[in-house]
Amino acid sequence: MSTESQQLYSQLPAIDRLLRDPAVEPLVAKHGQTLISDLLRQMQAQAREAIKTCQQLPPWCHDWPQALLERLSQQQRPALQPVFNLSGTVLHTNLGRALLAEPAIDAVVQAMGSAVTLEYDLDGAGRGHRDRAIADLLCQLTGAEDACIVNNNAAAVLLMLAAVAPGRQVVVSRGELVEIGGAFRIPDVMRQAGCQLVEVGTTNRTHLKDYRAAINEQTGLLMKVHTSNYCIQGFTAAVDEAELAMLGREQGIPTATDLGSGALIDMTQYGLPAEPMPQRLIAAGVDLVTFSGDKLLGGPQAGIIVGKKDLIARLQQHPLKRALRVGKMTLAALEATLRLYQQPELLAEHLPTLRLLTRPQQAMQQAAERLLSQLAVRFADRFALRAEPCWSQIGSGSLPVDRLPSYALTFAPLDGRGATLELLAQQWRSLPQPVIGRIHDGRLWLDLRCLEQESALLEVLNP
Ligand SMILES: *Cc1c(COP(=O)(O)O)cnc(C)c1O
Repeated sequence: MSTESQQLYSQLPAIDRLLRDPAVEPLVAKHGQTLISDLLRQMQAQAREAIKTCQQLPPWCHDWPQALLERLSQQQRPALQPVFNLSGTVLHTNLGRALLAEPAIDAVVQAMGSAVTLEYDLDGAGRGHRDRAIADLLCQLTGAEDACIVNNNAAAVLLMLAAVAPGRQVVVSRGELVEIGGAFRIPDVMRQAGCQLVEVGTTNRTHLKDYRAAINEQTGLLMKVHTSNYCIQGFTAAVDEAELAMLGREQGIPTATDLGSGALIDMTQYGLPAEPMPQRLIAAGVDLVTFSGDKLLGGPQAGIIVGKKDLIARLQQHPLKRALRVGKMTLAALEATLRLYQQPELLAEHLPTLRLLTRPQQAMQQAAERLLSQLAVRFADRFALRAEPCWSQIGSGSLPVDRLPSYALTFAPLDGRGATLELLAQQWRSLPQPVIGRIHDGRLWLDLRCLEQESALLEVLNP
């Protein structure tokens, strides 16, 4: 070993001494010796490695307590970091979909810190299972006879197939064999549930006679899947739910629809694109309807199945239900969210999803102009800022072709280079509260539809 290296190794402080350093002691008191010693040992090992490979100390070695503090705050960052969703997609699956309404947040907080009547009857009436109270609420809202709640809509479909048509044939139109993001594919789910998929019709056209011709003694379910993330246009035909339900009743075979996004109110009254509603399908005679809790419904991640009493009873009794059931936090949030639907006049104000989807373009335009005037100077050396109209997407199982007029703050690099833009996007992703925009057409776009706290954004972008 060279004498220089030896000299460098001798400069490394001992862990014991660091632990007694006046700048480190408070950290030990706050976080305990185990964590702090572990971090210091990692730093020692890194410094030794740097001496061995580059014959020099890493730059942070001039201030060990400061370097320790930085590592500590880095390490203590939660894995689920709050971000500004300025991506232009309101229900963004990778950003956690729906934001909960205040009453739902309060209900979760309450349920977290307290014992609750999850499966306990105060009146000794024997309600049966944990979904009971919320199932009653779902029945009121959808007109269904009963309901079942599981972890997400993928689980709802899996449980429904496994409980209603085990080992039997399930008839689905070729135009509805969808893949939802994250590897949810109808044919795969069908196999996992132990059902045999029978495809009928063609990609663009399926008729009632196609379903009828596929029916035999092995048929266990006639199923429709809402093609939520794409649309087929042109020479098309699909069988509507009422017709299929009629065929099912005539043949004594249950019918089901995987709706994906379940809008419990008519979206068109808010000027939003029409979305199929579970209550319409129930009224049309469909036996079981499945949908998500955290898409247009605006609640927590959950899968909801509503429909006929006897079929729901089979779902509730199936062993998979125990594996797919939700916990008290989800039930608390879902109940509080559903209660908001009992006051429809207030919904657009109280339910964040609907509030964001119905924000008028003018609100975003004004926000864009205010932010422009406050941020232009700070970025003027590298970017041209503009307030520009844009289109938001609803996201999560709503048609990608249905767009909502919005307004964005855009950043165009003065050097015209994509790399400059990438760098800016990356810098924003590493902010204390990361800012998620969208790069498009040589600019970085911040769609302001989901920005409700302008001052918080200003604080991170213009500290
Ligand atoms: C979103 C969606 C699913 C999956 O729902 P998750 O709640 O994400 O599990 C399944 N089917 C359809 C039609 C969907 O739109």
